[in-house]
Amino acid sequence: MAALITRDHGKTLPDALGEVLRGLETIDFACGLPSHLAGMMTPSVATNVDAFTLRGPLGVTAAITPFNFPAMVPMWIYPVALMCGNTVVWKPSSHTPGASQLQAELWKEAGGPDGTFNVVYGGREAVASIVEHPDIRAIQFVGSTAVGRYVFEEGTRHGKRVGSFTSAKNAMIVLPDADMEMTADAAVASGYGSAGERCMAQTLVIAVDDAAERLRPRILERIARLRVGPGMEPGVDMGPIYTREHRASIIGWIDKGVAEGAELVVDGRPFVHPTSPGGFFLGASLFDHVTPDMQIFREEIFCPVLGIVRARTYEEAVGLINGHKYANGTAIFTTDGGAARRFKLEVDVPMIGINVPIPVPAGYLSFGGAKESAIGDLAMRGEDGVRFFTQQKMVTERWPEPSRTGPLSLVFPGNG
Ligand code: NAD
Repeated sequence: MAALITRDHGKTLPDALGEVLRGLETIDFACGLPSHLAGMMTPSVATNVDAFTLRGPLGVTAAITPFNFPAMVPMWIYPVALMCGNTVVWKPSSHTPGASQLQAELWKEAGGPDGTFNVVYGGREAVASIVEHPDIRAIQFVGSTAVGRYVFEEGTRHGKRVGSFTSAKNAMIVLPDADMEMTADAAVASGYGSAGERCMAQTLVIAVDDAAERLRPRILERIARLRVGPGMEPGVDMGPIYTREHRASIIGWIDKGVAEGAELVVDGRPFVHPTSPGGFFLGASLFDHVTPDMQIFREEIFCPVLGIVRARTYEEAVGLINGHKYANGTAIFTTDGGAARRFKLEVDVPMIGINVPIPVPAGYLSFGGAKESAIGDLAMRGEDGVRFFTQQKMVTERWPEPSRTGPLSLVFPGNG
């Protein structure tokens, strides 16, 4: 599966294997789902009356997923939907069909009944038919905010339960007391891993006080050592960009950053791979002195471009994150436990790392953003995934003894 992901997407083989393993964590969680489906009972809520909850399936559910995690993101959705007793219609990204086809074949090989797990390929029309179909009860969407908003608004208008997990622009704060070697490793791994095509990549580094002076040379050393090349080649750190069009758009964004006045410290645009000059490769780029008024601060670019933002104080740095329209993941790098404690209470972003650059929690925990990074009430996977993919039923049950039934009464029942 990892090899198919590398073939279709371009990310390196070890990175593709990493995403398959993170997806399998949620399959493990889903295999133990009966305990999460257990209801609650109140015996004798009234005389001879018991009350309890049941969680039942919704029926036909759907998943619509992006190109950048062809295995992990769908594996965060359909195993929970299936193990809650639903059937699934999955519309994967048409850019990365290999892994989706294999997942459907594996389900069949494992004995999954026909019709329970269905893969539908296509673009806008396939999505519209899911969003409008009267038999589909719930949709989990992962992708860009524009499409996620459409799926949410149209889907709910058609009476469905919808969760949309959408775009991001994540920032990590670096305090002056941080371990700068560890922080530089984290910034480079998070910013350039998978060529920046990760919704949890920290693409902005907000350096407080003099932190930037000590961090910047360390980031530069690491960028100089990055190897860009075909994802199947051993030792490669960054594969190609997933399409020619996206590569062209990234170059446009770097041009824009220069025009906006940010300092382009490392320029990845001229990179040409020696043996694949026509490939969609791009070198790592680094901007410094990015400011909040710039579009390269405000918008998601989804590419190997890291931006350093300079803040005078911790308060200013947190204010920049809390003022951003996106809220998916964030992190703080510090050796001060008090500062880290303040951060996790004060930051208005749901996925938080403390000296952890990509805070994607283990597969049995829920995952999701806020603001423009998630539209809907519940997160995916974990307890929220179970709530999303089930209908709760409240049962009030009485087995009356014939001698105790009284005369017919139309009075609203009390609990006596
Ligand atoms: P995308 O929105 O282009 O595509 C997502 C899905 O919608 C795909 O299946 C695609 O075929 C379909 N689609 C695309 N355009 C459509 C349209 N006009 N009408 C109807 N359907 C359409 O997203 P992408 O480029 O595949 O993925 C990258 C985006 O996904 C980034 O914004 C990234 O941040 C986001 N993402 C978010 C998360 C998260 O958990 N929040 C995780 C991964 C990726």
